[in-house]
Amino acid sequence: MGNIHLPLEDTKSKLPAVEMKPQSIVAVGSIAVDWLELPDGIEGETVGGSLTYFTRSAGSAAPVNVVGIIGTDFPKEGAELFEKYGENLDDLQIKEGDSFRWGGRYHNNWEDRTTLYTELGVFETFNPLLGNENRRSSLFYLGNIHPALQLAVVEQIVSKQRLIVCDTMNLWINTTRKELDKLLSSVDVLLLNESEAALLTETDDIASSVDSIQNSGPENVIIKRGGAGATLFTGDDQTHVPVYPIERLADPTGAGDSFGGGFMAALANGHSFYEGIVWGTATASFCVEGFGLEGLERMTSSLLEERIETVRTSADLG
Ligand code: AMP
Repeated sequence: MGNIHLPLEDTKSKLPAVEMKPQSIVAVGSIAVDWLELPDGIEGETVGGSLTYFTRSAGSAAPVNVVGIIGTDFPKEGAELFEKYGENLDDLQIKEGDSFRWGGRYHNNWEDRTTLYTELGVFETFNPLLGNENRRSSLFYLGNIHPALQLAVVEQIVSKQRLIVCDTMNLWINTTRKELDKLLSSVDVLLLNESEAALLTETDDIASSVDSIQNSGPENVIIKRGGAGATLFTGDDQTHVPVYPIERLADPTGAGDSFGGGFMAALANGHSFYEGIVWGTATASFCVEGFGLEGLERMTSSLLEERIETVRTSADLG
């Protein structure tokens, strides 16, 4: 990592009394039209994509500068989401053609899923290009897309003081290992779930897995453990937060991206990585309560604050 001093002081305390202007987050990822099939028989089409969930999740608490691509067929409600929750859309490309489309069917455990189809559309020729403002930024989120595209963003960053947070998925671990390894050497925080960590490092033992990831680049690793919460590993230290107790799981799609959104929003507001996993956990809890983006639509600042407080308190008690 450069010389940036994020996280700031490790605070498990409440939000600072002094108002500060949040930093901008430059975020890249997929913007999609999804087809989802859930174990309870509910299915349908919805706007999706890692960057879409991320922008909705982070965008009400921090400025999000969107780096992505959509086709001319992209639904109006999706475009409105980016207008409302994105701060700067200069690097959002709109190209004649079809948007990225992904279909997924969840297994009965509500966790594993089978990809029904992936149609790249305009994504096939996507070349993320950062304007001057974004190149000079210091806070970057690399949402789940091909690691070569994530790397293309990293290579355009000119600021020496930068913090790069990265998410990925099984597909890339299995198919693009060389690019992923190259990318990881410049990443400061890696977010991944337990099974992805095991796949990446070929061990089920979390401690050895994290050790091996840290040796490959990211000094900080956040392991998302589904219903068991999330653990932050920084150097030799580790801290854990439990999940927020939701009433009913409706759709897990986007949980990882909205965790990332909450995490980055906390950092953009000057909070620590620890506080980031608290915000991430609270934000993801809204996401999984509704189909597609519906759960996040119900997330207001005050409801989010309440859940942040609940997660923080239960983590402190744990
Ligand atoms: P998550 O549930 O957090 O893994 O994120 C789900 C989102 O990832 C969906 O809205 C999909 O559109 C998107 N997605 C699925 N497969 C891919 C892929 N290969 N590349 C980029 N985004 C994807």
